[in-house]
Amino acid sequence: MKVENHRLVLDNGEPVRFEATPNQGGALKPRFLVMHYTAGRDAESSIRWLTRPDARASAHLVIGRDGAVTQLVPFDRVAWHAGPSRWDGVRGLNQHSIGIELDNAGLLERKGDRWRAWFGNAYPEEEVMEARHRHGDRVCGWHIFTPEQLDVALEASRVIIQAYGISELLGHDDISPGRKLDPGPAFPMAPFRAKLFGRAEDEAPTYATTVNLNIRRGPGTHHERLEVGPLPQGTLLEVLREDGSWRLVNVRGEVQGQRDVQGWVHGDYIRRSD
Ligand SMILES: [Zn+2]
Repeated sequence: MKVENHRLVLDNGEPVRFEATPNQGGALKPRFLVMHYTAGRDAESSIRWLTRPDARASAHLVIGRDGAVTQLVPFDRVAWHAGPSRWDGVRGLNQHSIGIELDNAGLLERKGDRWRAWFGNAYPEEEVMEARHRHGDRVCGWHIFTPEQLDVALEASRVIIQAYGISELLGHDDISPGRKLDPGPAFPMAPFRAKLFGRAEDEAPTYATTVNLNIRRGPGTHHERLEVGPLPQGTLLEVLREDGSWRLVNVRGEVQGQRDVQGWVHGDYIRRSD
């Protein structure tokens, strides 16, 4: 990928699909990159919404669960993705940032044996991670992002950051805390920052499993085990968050052929390895 004429261009030289939206402002000199989830049904419905004048909202990119990218606003124009927001003394981040929306149902509530989004769709267990938002007070379900989607988001972020000299990746929940929860706990923010900027202080500490260790959807043995099965002894992990004696971890590399595995393990069975 690369950026050309403020459009994202694929490796085959073709710009990504472009759907113009009236929801945009003036010239933009981006300093920040802001990550979002759509809290929508699918990428197409989100694109339709973000290109409707009455939505009064947009983003520069929408990335589908299959990794397909649609651009709505050129990177040198203001998109309306942040709303009331502030960061590092800057107010109104729309004027200073590029916004990427990831197709994702967002926060999910358990209703009986199903996980449901605000718009009513149900999601299977294997698409759900249980976690407490760092600004929240209880564990709820979060629609996971797909590996294809995260790979494309990382690559797009990398070329945008290089093209515009951006020095910070933020979540909507960083710049509008209390008002916004996206991209939420299912988005691997610490590994993303480490991969994009490589600053030591952004590196999540590395741990290794000391036994073959169950990995679960939530912090506690009452939460279901992930289908990928126990992590073999010596599996390398990044710890993203702590909840009592439980740790939300991101598995380095592959486990059983699956990448970007995230879940909860008991902290007694991992040790620092860096
Ligand atoms: Zn958002």
